[in-house]
Amino acid sequence: MKTKISNAVSQIPLSGIREMWHRAAQFDSFISLGIGEPDFNTPEEICNQALQDALKGATHYTQSQGDAELLKAIRMYLHKRLGKDISDRQIVVTTGGVGGLTSFFRTVLNPGDEVLLPDPYFPPYRHHIEWVGGRAVPVQTHFENGFVPTPQALEAAITPQTKVLLLNSPNNPTGAVIPAEIMDEISRIVLERDLLVLSDEVYERLLFDRLKHESIRTRPGMEERTVVVHSFSKSFAMTGWRIGYAFGPEWLIESMIKVVSSTTSCAPSVSQRAALAALHLDPKIIDSMVEEFCRRRDYAYEILKTLPGVKVHKPKGAFYIFPNISQITHDSRQFALDLLEKKQVVVVPGEAFGPSGKGCVRIALTVKQEVLKEAFKRIQHFISTLA
Ligand code: PMP
Repeated sequence: MKTKISNAVSQIPLSGIREMWHRAAQFDSFISLGIGEPDFNTPEEICNQALQDALKGATHYTQSQGDAELLKAIRMYLHKRLGKDISDRQIVVTTGGVGGLTSFFRTVLNPGDEVLLPDPYFPPYRHHIEWVGGRAVPVQTHFENGFVPTPQALEAAITPQTKVLLLNSPNNPTGAVIPAEIMDEISRIVLERDLLVLSDEVYERLLFDRLKHESIRTRPGMEERTVVVHSFSKSFAMTGWRIGYAFGPEWLIESMIKVVSSTTSCAPSVSQRAALAALHLDPKIIDSMVEEFCRRRDYAYEILKTLPGVKVHKPKGAFYIFPNISQITHDSRQFALDLLEKKQVVVVPGEAFGPSGKGCVRIALTVKQEVLKEAFKRIQHFISTLA
């Protein structure tokens, strides 16, 4: 019967993240640094508001574009962040950030259209592109320059079929942030080559060292050709609510709303009320979560840089660290499997995120500091046995 599964779906390999998860489940206890979700629970204020609104009847479909009050709050939030007016018609509320990604690709791709994908990347991008007959074109990045995509490499990968450039800054899995001047150069190429941009900015609030979030959309000529995907999952610790939004030019969002209407009808209404509460949350609550991720990042970096055979960059955003272990072994999958087997610590092999991740592992800094300390004690010991 299995042959009845579509080619597009049966060709999806077991994700490196899921593989580690299945294997870890065989152990009674383990420390997971494998999953990309904040360990914090959703702030109480958000849960309470959503509960009250649900009791008052926020349990029905909303319009496909989103709850009118939420759309207004997003518009005001964006105005504050960007210093510019965005109209309601430029926004669509989605079922998680992935809802924004998949609706975008369904909206713009015809079979054979190519999407440039700086590699390593969040694996579902590729599936969303391929399910609608598009072609994902990975563009290598390198440890040596902090996994920032170079304008030259992007330009060299453009063909007459290229329609979209996907950017993800801050980045999962590397924590890299594209610097302003590189963003400027990339935007010039996009304009010259008449591309669209999908800018995945779900980690926009998770930036360290007082860095200011940079979006390609703010560059000249980009507003008309960029869709930005946002999510409440990471910044507000709301992964399970499945709520996000996308904004971009009216002509494109209008069509994305048609896709949302036919796929999910609308984003979950209770979660939309939760998102509304999130936008009214005291920013200090978010700041304290970011400060905690920053402390964990500093701790992990300081340890990793002293380990023999390990090279590491200090991530500028998100909550991952992506050390290179290629001087110890080229087989980072085996490294991750052995680390689990011998020390019951879960990390994800870098190649799970594309070939440029080979020789690296992704460590999610999503456990409390005491647990992180124990995990690093075990990692340190494990590496000392390999040297
Ligand atoms: N983009 C990136 C880069 C991610 O890492 C994730 C989640 N891991 C998402 C999008 C989707 O997040 P969600 O659907 O929970 O909003």
